[in-house]
Amino acid sequence: MKVLLVEDDPAIAGSVTTSLSNAGMTVHHCATGADAIAAVKEFAPEVILMDLGLPDMDGLDVSKSIREFSSVPIIIVSARGDELDRVLGLELGADDYVVKPFSQRELLARIKAVTRRGHETQQPVIASTSTRIVVDERTHSATLDGEEVVLTAKEFDLLAFLSSEPGVVFRRNDILEHVWDTNWYGTTKTLDAHIASIRKKLGNPDWIQSVRGVGFKFVEVPQ
Ligand code: CA
Repeated sequence: MKVLLVEDDPAIAGSVTTSLSNAGMTVHHCATGADAIAAVKEFAPEVILMDLGLPDMDGLDVSKSIREFSSVPIIIVSARGDELDRVLGLELGADDYVVKPFSQRELLARIKAVTRRGHETQQPVIASTSTRIVVDERTHSATLDGEEVVLTAKEFDLLAFLSSEPGVVFRRNDILEHVWDTNWYGTTKTLDAHIASIRKKLGNPDWIQSVRGVGFKFVEVPQ
């Protein structure tokens, strides 16, 4: 597992690097946003840990720049819980977040969760039974009326899961367990942010409908 760690605090960078290296991961460390963007191209990480407060750029702007050319999973690392609304509100395509101080166990679990891809689990090749939306697990791509919908890894997994059975209501906890492989506190906000982002990308909120107090269901929208 290749991890790009974007962190300007040498103490945090040192302890995270040690811990991830001990877990068998290869860590590439950058202390600025500009270096991070260059490193995504050169190092080709499988996951990025992104600090928000960087000396040259805001971590969210760095993430947005990376999203323009890469769908690599991004975990936002924030020092303050009140920054999370800003993170989630921007719908920038981050896959998850952790709040400092975090335990190494939590960090490893998050990395494992966001990098777990659909093709590693026993899922059908073509998950969706929708006629307008085609979700292809082999190529990890989704199309709407033949046009590609650019999704992050977790948005893809979420859409693949919900669209596998149109009309069926999936409970929040079941979605979290299946798509994120976790039940972390706060992840339910991540779920809402991902649903909002997918709805926006599909151009119509009706594709994924909220069922109050239960969860969400995928509904085929007529053309
Ligand atoms: Ca910082």
